[in-house]
Amino acid sequence: MDGPHLWLQGGYAMSVTYMSADVLALLDLPDPSGLTADQRRGAVCVWGPEPLTGESAEGLGEQVDESGERWFPRACKKHTAKHAHGALVAHAAICKQCTDDADACDIHRVLYRLVRQEWR
Ligand SMILES: [Zn+2]
Ligand SMILES: [Zn+2]
Repeated sequence: MDGPHLWLQGGYAMSVTYMSADVLALLDLPDPSGLTADQRRGAVCVWGPEPLTGESAEGLGEQVDESGERWFPRACKKHTAKHAHGALVAHAAICKQCTDDADACDIHRVLYRLVRQEWR
């Protein structure tokens, strides 16, 4: 056993699209060197050919590639949900908190929300 955990209850200020570095790492973003300029600046989905509009796009944070250059991946809801689902499965298998109580796990909650968006 790990001893007592301190989990914040309520008052979450997390927006729907907020993603921590932990979550982004799980989403398995493509290698930026293989992307087009439009994909790197967020005009086109990082996982597909579809152009993005503000409403359909999910921001995936500001990233820095190996040469230190910044890029701004965004993805359509469909691809985000698909990758979030894969991430959720992989995460749940290794997360102690999810085994105890998945609702108390920040990563689980963010990923779950992304998966659900597909059906909105
Ligand atoms: Zn897409
Ligand atoms: Zn978890």
